[in-house]
Amino acid sequence: MKFRRPKGTLDSVPPESGHRQAARELFGRLCRLAGFQEIGTPTFEHTDVFIRSAGSGSDIVAKEMYSFKDRAGRDLTLRPEGTPGVVRAVLENGLRLPCRLFYAGAFFRYNQPQKGRCREFHQFGVEALGEASARTDAEVIRLGHEFFRHLGIADCRLVVNSIGCRDCRPGYHKLLVGYLNERRDRLCADCLVRLERNPLRVFDCKNETCHRALGAAPVPRLHLCPTCAEHFAAVLAELGRLELPFAVSDRLVRGLDYYNRTTFEYLSDALGAQDSLGGGGRYDYLVEEFGGPATPAVGFALGLERALLAVPAAPTAARLPLVFVVWLTEADIPQAQELLARLREADIPARIDYDASLPAHPKKLKHQVRTADAARARGCVIVGGEELGRGACGVKDLATGVQTEVPLTDVVERVRALLPTASA
Ligand code: AMP
Repeated sequence: MKFRRPKGTLDSVPPESGHRQAARELFGRLCRLAGFQEIGTPTFEHTDVFIRSAGSGSDIVAKEMYSFKDRAGRDLTLRPEGTPGVVRAVLENGLRLPCRLFYAGAFFRYNQPQKGRCREFHQFGVEALGEASARTDAEVIRLGHEFFRHLGIADCRLVVNSIGCRDCRPGYHKLLVGYLNERRDRLCADCLVRLERNPLRVFDCKNETCHRALGAAPVPRLHLCPTCAEHFAAVLAELGRLELPFAVSDRLVRGLDYYNRTTFEYLSDALGAQDSLGGGGRYDYLVEEFGGPATPAVGFALGLERALLAVPAAPTAARLPLVFVVWLTEADIPQAQELLARLREADIPARIDYDASLPAHPKKLKHQVRTADAARARGCVIVGGEELGRGACGVKDLATGVQTEVPLTDVVERVRALLPTASA
């Protein structure tokens, strides 16, 4: 083989590509039901967009961005996450606030690839801009949870936390810095930098020694101002009302500077070390930071690759909503083509094996059956012979092998019944 894909990237090939498409459609449907509209932003942005939002001390900005200069010397970066581009686009296009938006697309981070961690990956995300209520936090949290539930991930666990606001965070930071300064010798080099730039980040460190050093560190949730405490209590009450099981995780701070108040994550035990299916939080200052009006906001990003890893494996032999129109002799091909067009017009995926008529394939019928099988078609419609003389054709269920004679006029309906999902 001459070429291989770059490290950390994945090909999406059938049948997995079909699962991706189905997940994308499910996500879009759930978002639209909750009043979110789709937004698309460029795959790369000016590098400053990400530095201003995630923070220069975040792992993403410091270590993981694919940044480059274009031929005119502009500093550009392949997007490592969705929210900054969405906020920029909302302001640049003058969208009216409040607005609810969702997106799906490819994102890029230069990290060490492992199961569930790639350098190019796909996220589905929502942003509710201009909504301050704790009920919105809970509604957004539920939307992500619903997506995983509909996908069939039964073990999706929800953890939530609050990291306070501009008012209560400085006081809390002082406490945390004081605590960590006494344990500087036990912190890794990265955490010493975090300590200067954004001490909350130390909670994100994967290093065991740092973890232990954090032992009895003060946690944000226990140092919230009364308004943040009230907001968090309201989020939890609403999650309770929605009957969404959750656990409070004091150390869930999330790795981006722009979060405040509510943070949350969806976890799955099926994933191994990279156990986060998705996460999000409130970011009430980001729109202002980008030069817009003060705008409360909350959103999440879900990882598609991890979601698909966590879905219980589908039976691989499953057949697709696809039929083959099989012809018996060359003379039957025009009639077969007419049927093919009727099926496609009725939204039923259908194919015909034209190559079977080439001289290289003397066994015409056998070739077509093999092609249909390789394509994992659910059924075939057989055109020709005596049946055609009676104004009928054969409809064969390739999963069961059962074949019935069907009048030509009823073929579309009969095939639709065979493929319930084809026309859904
Ligand atoms: P984050 O933007 O880091 O909060 O990530 C949100 C979700 O995106 C995570 O929970 C993962 O499901 C997914 N994700 C983030 N980084 C990667 C990656 N490098 N490879 C695959 N999925 C990722």
